[in-house]
Amino acid sequence: MIKVQNLVKQFGQNVVLSDVSLEVKQGEVVAIIGPSGSGKSTLLRCLNLLEKPNQGQITIDDVTLNAASYSRKEESALRHQSAMVFQNYNLFKNKTALENITEALIVAQGMKKADAEKIGFELLERVGLLPQAHQYPVTLSGGQQQRVAIARALAVKPKVILFDEPTSALDPERVHEVLQVINQLAKDDTTMIIVTHEMEFAKKVADRVIFMADGVIVEQGPAHEMIEAPKNEKTQRFLRQLS
Ligand code: ATP
Ligand code: MG
Repeated sequence: MIKVQNLVKQFGQNVVLSDVSLEVKQGEVVAIIGPSGSGKSTLLRCLNLLEKPNQGQITIDDVTLNAASYSRKEESALRHQSAMVFQNYNLFKNKTALENITEALIVAQGMKKADAEKIGFELLERVGLLPQAHQYPVTLSGGQQQRVAIARALAVKPKVILFDEPTSALDPERVHEVLQVINQLAKDDTTMIIVTHEMEFAKKVADRVIFMADGVIVEQGPAHEMIEAPKNEKTQRFLRQLS
């Protein structure tokens, strides 16, 4: 479903992703772990073209893009295959929870407001926030804002949802409610790539774990095996430092 081939990203002389290749199957949940600065966010951002990769090829479902040269149309097609959920929620502050979800449907997809709102209410119910539909982000807790962000990502029916440390900005007592929503999505066979520092969560929800360091994929494997018994020395050292 997702195929990344020989992806390279550099900022000036700094090679941040060097020859990264990976595949993700339909319905698979992949967790990416690794030290700060290893290129995890950059990889997600390249998949969504928030950053332009320098070399390589990205395929998501029926759209393939070659980094060396691509058209506006291909760029837009690839971007629409995925949705991002950020660490800091990135909600529209002047829009209610419901409006945050319906915005893209109405503005980008030209859906009728009533139809978009029907979808919006369904998604709010799914993330447990129906009573908060008409509240503005500032009146919501971090966990609630992140659940709105997840509902907003789901609204556009992406082929994959890309999560960049979705719980890192939350108070500890709010982490659980967000992880629970992601866990439910996993059970519903949503394809997801999740950058996370929550090893217990990765072990529980991910099918596979990828360990990155210095812009390369060092090791990957079944979640349980990777976290309990990694083979590579760099992975072992990283996990030891966390515990
Ligand atoms: P963290 O765990 O701290 O979030 P990360 O694995 O997500 O780290 P990235 O944010 O992908 O790491 O950064 C990888 C490298 O790329 C770092 O050295 C960073 O300084 C550099 N980098 C990221 N974005 C830019 C940018 N816009 N311009 C220049 N350098 C950048
Ligand atoms: Mg990051």
